[in-house]
Amino acid sequence: MIEPQSAYLERLRPAGGKRSGKRDLIVNVFLRQEGHLSADDLVEIMRRNNHKISRATVYRTLQWMVEAGIARKVDFGEGRFRFEHSYRHPRHFHLICKTCNQSSEFLSSDVEALVEEIASARGFTARQSVLQIYGTCEDCRTGRPHPDRKVATELLFARDALRIAIATEQSGLEFYSRAARLTKDVRGRRVFRKLADEEKEHLATLEARYGELLNQDPELESRPTFLFFKGAANGLFAAGAEELTRGVDAKEALKIGIRCERGSHRFFKRYGERFEDSEGKRIFLEFADEEREHLELLIREYRNLSTRQSKKSPRLTKRARRTSA
Ligand SMILES: [Zn+2]
Ligand SMILES: [Zn+2]
Repeated sequence: MIEPQSAYLERLRPAGGKRSGKRDLIVNVFLRQEGHLSADDLVEIMRRNNHKISRATVYRTLQWMVEAGIARKVDFGEGRFRFEHSYRHPRHFHLICKTCNQSSEFLSSDVEALVEEIASARGFTARQSVLQIYGTCEDCRTGRPHPDRKVATELLFARDALRIAIATEQSGLEFYSRAARLTKDVRGRRVFRKLADEEKEHLATLEARYGELLNQDPELESRPTFLFFKGAANGLFAAGAEELTRGVDAKEALKIGIRCERGSHRFFKRYGERFEDSEGKRIFLEFADEEREHLELLIREYRNLSTRQSKKSPRLTKRARRTSA
């Protein structure tokens, strides 16, 4: 279940933090907003809603929310800060148009991996990284009318998380079907077939979920990409499926499968854990669990096969065994 807003706020409330009616009101209004608000935007919204709250109280509350981790402070180079809430809103980077001042959000595992690599090479403990790309957006560049861009990032995130999971399942299905065709070992073949069937079933579930998501917004498919995961976009099993074509035996095929499942499990777990509570996060973590089950199954089979093989030929050749029998 996704954490309800009240539980989220309780969890983030600093120890000993007093409850205040005014503050709670501001927080509740703020959490209902999408996008990046300046402090004055929030004051304006509070006034439009007929709440008599002073500017100073709004400012103080925003500061409190930043410290509590409820709000993130962003600087788009306009000479003032903007604020966005982190409730069900994943971490992200920004593209900022200097013509219309609209910003759009994206996240890239490749960029994050590179940043981590650099920080660790320099023995640096990274706490936060900010990436902002300034320029001209497509609408301003082409003179197209600006469409309604107020789509919840959470929805784009869930859509892209599902797309990545689906691409992974498809490449997994291809991998296991191919492995089942190639493997001569009877038991190994059965394992690969079983996994191919499971991938097919999961794929159908994920596609149904994707369909449900599209029902929430008929234009969701054509909305801009949020998650850029280059390494995972073609399916984490694609390279493994390619390797199978050079002709491998059951043991090698199991080994490649283990490597792919482990990579996939780690990928989904690592990112799933770092996201804010959201549908996208759940998709990643559930998928990580499924991959772990596959991984364990493959490791068991690999061990079984190794034991069977060493029993069959304990150093003796076939002929030697026949003569000694
Ligand atoms: Zn623009
Ligand atoms: Zn943002």
